Amino acid sequence: MKKLVIASNNPGKLREFQRMLAPLGIEVLTQAQLGIKEAEEPHCTFVENALAKARHVSAASGLPALADDSGICVAALGGAPGVQSARYAGDDPKSDTRNNEKLLYAMQGAADRRAHYYCVLVLVHRADDPQPVIAEGEWHGEIGFEERGSGGFGYDPLFRLPDFGKTAAELSHDEKAQVSHRAKALKVLLDKLRLGDA
Ligand code: IMP
Repeated sequence: MKKLVIASNNPGKLREFQRMLAPLGIEVLTQAQLGIKEAEEPHCTFVENALAKARHVSAASGLPALADDSGICVAALGGAPGVQSARYAGDDPKSDTRNNEKLLYAMQGAADRRAHYYCVLVLVHRADDPQPVIAEGEWHGEIGFEERGSGGFGYDPLFRLPDFGKTAAELSHDEKAQVSHRAKALKVLLDKLRLGDA
């Protein structure tokens, strides 16, 4: 595999993938560079949405494609926002700021603040690949009471990590790339592809 298209237009995710895949000597392209429109994500499971995105981009580019679907699952909210994480506060337009405000509001008075990020990666070698490579990762933490930090993206300023005494938005890029749900899933994926450590 010499070239791979990342099936995402999320700048935060693209930065993280490009950083994590850089040592592998694979030319990493993005769907925006190739002028490919976003796929629909109509499904109620992360894995179905990731497969739909990977197939869509591989069909449009004729290249292997890697998609992730990810989100934050909050225990006190029954796992919400989950697959709806990107559009928790609406999708016209999607807004991290409004999503975080809505999450803080929903968590007012909640004693149980446990939450985890989940990521599933799907790699297809071609659009009709009968054996997509699938890998998962989880990152456990809790929802803070206020936003802290300016790194990362999405819910990171609210995602507190008791082990670090920081939010995900207060970690350096390198720290996040060691421990995040996306980093864990990528490690599993690369092991499956026998490409070793990212
Ligand atoms: P997707 O593009 O449909 O997979 O949306 C994933 C959404 O989950 C993002 O837009 C964020 O709201 C949230 N999310 C996933 N991973 C992260 C992360 O590493 N940090 C912060 N938010 C994340």
